[in-house]
Amino acid sequence: HLNGKVALVTGSTSGIGLGIACALAEAGAELILNGFGEVDRAKDKVARYGARPGYHDADLSDPTQIEAMMQYAESEYGGVDILVNNAGIQHVAPVEQFPVEKWNAILAINLSSVFHTSRLALPGMKERNWGRIINIASVHGLVASKEKSAYVAAKHAVVGLTKVIALENAQTNITCNALCPGWVLTPLVQQQIDQRIASGIAPEVARDTLLGEKQPSGEFVTPEQLGALTLFLCSDAASQVRGAAWNMDGGWVAQ
Ligand code: NAD
Repeated sequence: HLNGKVALVTGSTSGIGLGIACALAEAGAELILNGFGEVDRAKDKVARYGARPGYHDADLSDPTQIEAMMQYAESEYGGVDILVNNAGIQHVAPVEQFPVEKWNAILAINLSSVFHTSRLALPGMKERNWGRIINIASVHGLVASKEKSAYVAAKHAVVGLTKVIALENAQTNITCNALCPGWVLTPLVQQQIDQRIASGIAPEVARDTLLGEKQPSGEFVTPEQLGALTLFLCSDAASQVRGAAWNMDGGWVAQ
């Protein structure tokens, strides 16, 4: 149902972003990928579901590079119809030991990039009178955990920004919503499991206690499931879902 739509998914070379990109490609959208690392592997994977995707290497901590990425989308694809703000990083440390440069990087990548891509995508969406902005926040946009000050602050702010963009466009065919996943087994979470293993905990125990502390289902959420929810939010059936912070979290925030 997304034939003729152009989708930009930030941070789509890995994890959740790559899963969402595949789902959008399978539904017929033209994809623009972004992110670091195994770019060709990500392009090949998305190409198995649809047309070969475009790619821009913008570092989302830098507004100038974000502007270049949005210009690329405009000149090569005629603009962005579906914007998935997914790129994000994590750092775990208590506030008083939290490195200032990590704080600044997390705020820039996890929060400010959402403002920049959105402000640059909205004029084109308004011209075409259709758009979907889907921000990958987190359960940490709704509740906190210790040692994640920058991440929790940025994700709560993303939920707030989502509501403002939803309201400003409430009388258009442009919707803006946030997804709030619980634990998804991606490199970002594997790093946190590895930290526990490094402190002497057995791998299965590290995984089970990580899930057990927060996620009542005891199961990870998958990128494919988040892809399916993204497709729903892009559908006509979701045209009145506006400014939501939709958790998919194995029961995390129900507690
Ligand atoms: P991941 O590490 O697998 O992927 C992160 C992606 O962002 C990669 O493509 C990476 O290259 C890209 N990226 C990182 N820094 C970037 C930068 N400066 N510029 C451009 N791209 C950059 O992580 P993930 O778990 O798939 O996380 C994706 C999003 O989902 C993040 O916003 C994260 O906060 C959120 N999230 C993850 C979980 C989880 O359990 N994994 C839960 C809730 C929310």
